[in-house]
Amino acid sequence: MKKTILALRPVLPDEMAELDSHFNVLKLWEEKEPEEFIKAHKNEIQGVLSTYNSAGVRAAMMDALPNLEIISQFGVGYDNIDIEAAESRKIAVTNTPDILTNDTADVALMLLLNIARRGVEGDVFVRVGRWQKGPLPLGVCLADKTVGIVGLGKIGSAIAKRCCAFDMNVVYYGRSEKNVSFTYYNDLKSMAHDSDFLVLACAGGPETENIINLDILEALGPKGFLINIARGSVVHEEDLLIALQNRAIAGAGLDVFANEPNVPEEMLKMDQVVLLPHIGSATAETRSKMGKLVIDNFLAHFEGKPLLTPVYLS
Ligand code: NAP
Repeated sequence: MKKTILALRPVLPDEMAELDSHFNVLKLWEEKEPEEFIKAHKNEIQGVLSTYNSAGVRAAMMDALPNLEIISQFGVGYDNIDIEAAESRKIAVTNTPDILTNDTADVALMLLLNIARRGVEGDVFVRVGRWQKGPLPLGVCLADKTVGIVGLGKIGSAIAKRCCAFDMNVVYYGRSEKNVSFTYYNDLKSMAHDSDFLVLACAGGPETENIINLDILEALGPKGFLINIARGSVVHEEDLLIALQNRAIAGAGLDVFANEPNVPEEMLKMDQVVLLPHIGSATAETRSKMGKLVIDNFLAHFEGKPLLTPVYLS
């Protein structure tokens, strides 16, 4: 008999069809009364397909599903899953690391280039006919500038590699020094002070919540740019607004926000920001690989094999 999976959000159609071929899939996003639906099916559900942009799985949901064995996350970040609660209930958790590293690092560079060289602004400038009235204001050169990376993990390292190709000086901040040639800072404010571009690539969750506040942004300074491809929760969004409004920083390139898909009204009117709708991993190839890995983790679990990409409390 097929096992039952509760899918919180859909994956791509091909992978959705593959999931349907292996499992009895309950599609929560199609339900008008999701809580009632979960209650009605609570005893059948043995797996949850969670996604980086869903409400995730907290302890209350785990308690509501007495036969839940595995949560397979579509995404590398798992800040919307209570890992401690899952471990204490012996519920396995998996994610989709590595396969999205290059795409997400590309988006960081896309933001960095666009904010520094006014790419998006230049496109609008041409389209609305302002070129005939004069030139676009000058941009900022990348070569020889210092990029401070917060979180030199897989994506942070891929960003560093790309920044080196642009002849930038790379430094980083994290919980521990790595065996790399880049300068390490154990103090975020000092690194922000010494950086021209502060790029956020760390994990989300309680430990990194609001670590980028007005104090850090003021240290980055009026010529500094903030790039965030990590999680909206890493930045104190009201402080960022204040810093942008007061020109305490030069600008920001943002792929993630505190309350997605909502972006602060004030930001929509600012020229000195580039805003993207959380597209770090959003290529057809990568999203397909992510969906396959989600399914492979479910299959491994229910066949009693080792999980491909398990997540544990760090
Ligand atoms: P990873 O290899 O596990 O790297 C996570 C990094 O976060 C590590 O370098 C770690 O550094 C750092 N970190 C964790 N806690 C920290 C803390 N308290 N203070 C400072 N740094 C901390 O994961 P990854 O694959 O690079 O992904 C990183 C994050 O990118 C994900 O968690 C996700 O939130 C985000 N992401 C966003 C998108 C998007 O679409 N925008 C796509 C994919 C991923 P240390 O261990 O050295 O402290």
